[in-house]
Amino acid sequence: MNQRGIAILGSTGSIGTTALRVIARQPDRFRVVALTAHSNAALLRQQVREFHPSYVGLVNCTDADGNGWRRGTESLVEAATREDADIVLNAIVGAAGLDATLAALRAGKRVALANKETLVVAGELVTRAAAEGRGEIVPVDSEHSAILQCIAGRDHAEIRRVILTASGGPFRGWSESRLAKATVTDALQHPTWTMGRKITIDSATLANKALEVIEAHFLFGLPYDSIEVVVHPQSVVHSFVEFVDGSVVAQMSVPSMELPVLYALTHPGRAPDSGVQAFDPVARSPMTFEPVAHENFPALRLGIGAGRRGGAAPAVFNAANEQAVSLFLEGKIEFADIAASIESALERLGDLAAESREDLLDADMQARRHVMELFAC
Ligand code: NAD
Ligand code: MG
Repeated sequence: MNQRGIAILGSTGSIGTTALRVIARQPDRFRVVALTAHSNAALLRQQVREFHPSYVGLVNCTDADGNGWRRGTESLVEAATREDADIVLNAIVGAAGLDATLAALRAGKRVALANKETLVVAGELVTRAAAEGRGEIVPVDSEHSAILQCIAGRDHAEIRRVILTASGGPFRGWSESRLAKATVTDALQHPTWTMGRKITIDSATLANKALEVIEAHFLFGLPYDSIEVVVHPQSVVHSFVEFVDGSVVAQMSVPSMELPVLYALTHPGRAPDSGVQAFDPVARSPMTFEPVAHENFPALRLGIGAGRRGGAAPAVFNAANEQAVSLFLEGKIEFADIAASIESALERLGDLAAESREDLLDADMQARRHVMELFAC
């Protein structure tokens, strides 16, 4: 079997380490050719010892880390465009992943995309880069992986609607007054998934689901009216696709990111995985579904509104959210301030120009500044 070369951007994070676990079980299929991280030199060194990539990049690299590693943000694009990389797993968090995604797609790579912010900030540019460079975007996000698995081999015109499932996060069922007192520790207690801190907070505000609705719009070319969200606290059904004849197909598996990561590498094929946990429908019962409590989670409505508005609005939504989440994690603002920041940034900056990458990065920067000024930070 021909081994495929994998470059992993963000190898020290939650998705990055999950991917390395999955790849370690598939030595005949995959070979790690490049690893990059932001600042965790110790873990990166351990990974390099185990996987022997030909390229290593550490954005915040000190002389002590040296060892021939590349440094700076350029290392992301370098890793993403290497000749020996067939697949680039973008597992970076935030808009910082955009240039590497664009470069990899222009170089004709498959991008296994965990970094959903990339598609939200610049969905049109990214899809154009894929078309021009003959690159391919395959989602890692579990909901989008589910949709892809349900529609593989089907005609696009047969899809009537997709329904993304949401766990509801740690604050499902909380009253408005209890939510007003929610702490960082409360928000980091996700009921079904263990993930990086930023996406965990996004799951608590439901901003994550708004990012995913926009992601689905660009990935599958679906209008916003055909993308819905339902709360499913058990995180076993990863999404539904309804076809034009009324048939509804869902994808299920135990809540683990190992399957969507592996599928993004093997799509449209599948590979046996010795690490997979057997699915037991009885043990997973009951599976329940409920509507989103929009009044308590305004970030979802604001984000979907930004997606519908288009132009720079999704980039402003994303940047205001990134900035507010980092202030919340630093203890500088309250939980409800995250949605308030998004609303204020969209009101002020939602109509900025969005013709080019530079326009979008400018909108991103202005939105971050706006949120900092709101709280006099
Ligand atoms: P994480 O914080 O655990 O890891 C992020 C990785 O990116 C780290 O290796 C870090 O070194 C690197 N990184 C962070 N900022 C960077 C920067 N500015 N430049 C270069 N590298 C940088 O995050 P995560 O939970 O693994 O999430 C990664 C992406 O995957 C996010 O977009 C998230 O929304 C998405 N995602 C994650 C999960 C999950 O289960 N963790 C599920 C679905 C989607
Ligand atoms: Mg998801």
